[in-house]
Amino acid sequence: MAFFSKFLPKRKPAEFKNNIPKEKKNIKQTFMVYCHNNHDTSGDKLCPKCTALLATVMTKMNRCPYGITKPICDRCDRPCFGAEQTQEFMRIMNSSQTRMLLSHPIMTIKHKLASMGVDYAKYQQQKKIDDKVKAKEKASKERAKERKKKNK
Ligand SMILES: [Zn+2]
Repeated sequence: MAFFSKFLPKRKPAEFKNNIPKEKKNIKQTFMVYCHNNHDTSGDKLCPKCTALLATVMTKMNRCPYGITKPICDRCDRPCFGAEQTQEFMRIMNSSQTRMLLSHPIMTIKHKLASMGVDYAKYQQQKKIDDKVKAKEKASKERAKERKKKNK
Protein backbone atom coordinates (compact mmCIF):
# COMPACT_ATOMS: atom_id res chain seq x y z
CA MET A 1 0.00 0.00 0.00
CA ALA A 2 2.79 2.35 0.92
CA PHE A 3 4.21 1.88 -2.54
CA PHE A 4 0.99 2.88 -4.26
CA SER A 5 0.27 5.78 -1.97
CA LYS A 6 3.26 7.53 -3.49
CA PHE A 7 1.24 7.95 -6.65
CA LEU A 8 -1.92 9.15 -5.01
CA PRO A 9 -2.50 12.89 -5.06
CA LYS A 10 -1.46 14.50 -1.82
CA ARG A 11 -4.30 15.83 0.23
CA LYS A 12 -4.33 19.59 0.31
CA PRO A 13 -4.49 21.23 3.72
CA ALA A 14 -7.89 22.74 4.46
CA GLU A 15 -7.93 26.42 3.68
CA PHE A 16 -10.46 29.19 3.75
CA LYS A 17 -11.46 30.18 0.29
CA ASN A 18 -11.42 33.89 -0.27
CA ASN A 19 -14.51 34.52 -2.39
CA ILE A 20 -14.27 38.29 -2.36
CA PRO A 21 -12.21 38.91 -5.53
CA LYS A 22 -14.47 36.59 -7.49
CA GLU A 23 -17.64 38.18 -6.17
CA LYS A 24 -16.31 41.68 -6.81
CA LYS A 25 -15.67 40.72 -10.40
CA ASN A 26 -19.14 39.26 -10.67
CA ILE A 27 -20.81 42.34 -9.21
CA LYS A 28 -18.79 44.71 -11.40
CA GLN A 29 -19.74 42.71 -14.47
CA THR A 30 -23.42 42.80 -13.48
CA PHE A 31 -23.29 46.55 -12.92
CA MET A 32 -21.68 47.03 -16.35
CA VAL A 33 -24.38 45.03 -18.09
CA TYR A 34 -27.14 46.78 -16.17
CA CYS A 35 -25.83 50.29 -16.63
CA HIS A 36 -25.06 49.82 -20.34
CA ASN A 37 -28.58 48.62 -20.96
CA ASN A 38 -30.46 51.01 -18.70
CA HIS A 39 -28.42 54.20 -18.54
CA ASP A 40 -26.97 54.40 -22.06
CA THR A 41 -23.35 53.91 -21.09
CA SER A 42 -20.73 51.83 -22.88
CA GLY A 43 -17.24 50.38 -22.59
CA ASP A 44 -15.67 50.56 -19.12
CA LYS A 45 -17.83 53.54 -18.18
CA LEU A 46 -20.66 53.55 -15.70
CA CYS A 47 -23.05 56.42 -15.04
CA PRO A 48 -22.31 58.53 -11.91
CA LYS A 49 -25.09 56.90 -9.90
CA CYS A 50 -23.96 53.36 -10.65
CA THR A 51 -20.32 54.32 -10.08
CA ALA A 52 -21.19 55.67 -6.64
CA LEU A 53 -23.23 52.61 -5.69
CA LEU A 54 -20.54 50.25 -6.95
CA ALA A 55 -17.90 52.15 -4.97
CA THR A 56 -20.00 51.81 -1.81
CA VAL A 57 -20.51 48.10 -2.38
CA MET A 58 -16.78 47.53 -2.94
CA THR A 59 -15.79 49.45 0.19
CA LYS A 60 -18.38 47.77 2.38
CA MET A 61 -17.30 44.40 1.08
CA ASN A 62 -13.81 44.92 2.43
CA ARG A 63 -15.32 45.56 5.84
CA CYS A 64 -17.78 42.67 5.72
CA PRO A 65 -18.40 41.36 9.24
CA TYR A 66 -18.22 37.83 7.83
CA GLY A 67 -14.66 38.38 6.56
CA ILE A 68 -13.40 36.25 3.70
CA THR A 69 -15.82 33.44 4.51
CA LYS A 70 -18.69 35.81 3.78
CA PRO A 71 -21.80 34.63 1.94
CA ILE A 72 -22.52 36.39 -1.33
CA CYS A 73 -23.90 39.89 -0.83
CA ASP A 74 -27.25 39.55 -2.59
CA ARG A 75 -28.07 36.65 -0.23
CA CYS A 76 -26.72 38.17 2.94
CA ASP A 77 -28.98 38.42 5.98
CA ARG A 78 -27.29 41.62 7.11
CA PRO A 79 -26.58 43.67 3.98
CA CYS A 80 -24.41 46.57 4.97
CA PHE A 81 -25.05 49.15 2.24
CA GLY A 82 -27.96 50.87 3.98
CA ALA A 83 -31.65 50.28 3.14
CA GLU A 84 -31.91 52.40 0.02
CA GLN A 85 -28.64 51.30 -1.55
CA THR A 86 -29.29 47.66 -0.72
CA GLN A 87 -32.62 47.89 -2.53
CA GLU A 88 -30.98 49.45 -5.58
CA PHE A 89 -28.21 46.85 -5.45
CA MET A 90 -30.72 43.98 -5.31
CA ARG A 91 -32.65 45.51 -8.19
CA ILE A 92 -29.53 45.65 -10.35
CA MET A 93 -28.44 42.14 -9.41
CA ASN A 94 -31.89 40.67 -10.08
CA SER A 95 -32.73 42.58 -13.24
CA SER A 96 -29.46 41.60 -14.87
CA GLN A 97 -29.67 37.94 -14.09
CA THR A 98 -31.26 36.92 -17.37
CA ARG A 99 -28.92 39.09 -19.41
CA MET A 100 -25.95 37.88 -17.42
CA LEU A 101 -26.96 34.31 -18.19
CA LEU A 102 -26.74 35.10 -21.89
CA SER A 103 -23.49 37.04 -21.87
CA HIS A 104 -21.63 35.28 -19.04
CA PRO A 105 -23.36 31.91 -18.59
CA ILE A 106 -20.69 30.14 -16.53
CA MET A 107 -20.21 33.01 -14.10
CA THR A 108 -23.97 33.32 -13.62
CA ILE A 109 -24.47 29.62 -13.05
CA LYS A 110 -21.62 29.56 -10.53
CA HIS A 111 -23.21 32.51 -8.74
CA LYS A 112 -26.56 30.74 -8.79
CA LEU A 113 -24.98 27.61 -7.32
CA ALA A 114 -23.32 29.68 -4.63
CA SER A 115 -26.62 31.27 -3.71
CA MET A 116 -28.26 27.86 -3.63
CA GLY A 117 -25.52 26.79 -1.24
CA VAL A 118 -26.40 29.70 1.01
CA ASP A 119 -30.09 28.79 0.80
CA TYR A 120 -29.29 25.21 1.69
CA ALA A 121 -27.19 26.21 4.69
CA LYS A 122 -30.01 28.47 5.86
CA TYR A 123 -32.52 25.65 5.36
CA GLN A 124 -30.38 23.27 7.42
CA GLN A 125 -30.05 25.90 10.14
CA GLN A 126 -33.80 26.48 10.23
CA LYS A 127 -34.45 22.74 10.28
CA LYS A 128 -32.23 22.32 13.31
CA ILE A 129 -34.15 25.07 15.10
CA ASP A 130 -37.50 23.57 14.06
CA ASP A 131 -36.43 20.13 15.25
CA LYS A 132 -35.46 21.53 18.62
CA VAL A 133 -38.83 23.28 18.96
CA LYS A 134 -40.66 20.10 17.95
CA ALA A 135 -38.67 18.02 20.43
CA LYS A 136 -39.53 20.49 23.19
CA GLU A 137 -43.22 20.45 22.28
CA LYS A 138 -43.23 16.66 22.27
CA ALA A 139 -41.52 16.53 25.63
CA SER A 140 -44.01 18.93 27.20
CA LYS A 141 -46.95 16.96 25.75
CA GLU A 142 -45.56 13.75 27.22
CA ARG A 143 -45.17 15.45 30.55
CA ALA A 144 -48.79 16.63 30.39
CA LYS A 145 -49.90 13.06 29.65
CA GLU A 146 -47.93 11.76 32.61
CA ARG A 147 -49.55 14.32 34.84
CA LYS A 148 -53.02 13.32 33.63
CA LYS A 149 -52.26 9.67 34.38
CA LYS A 150 -51.15 10.53 37.88
CA ASN A 151 -54.25 12.60 38.53
CA LYS A 152 -56.57 9.75 37.59
ZN1 LIG B 1 -25.98 53.40 -14.45
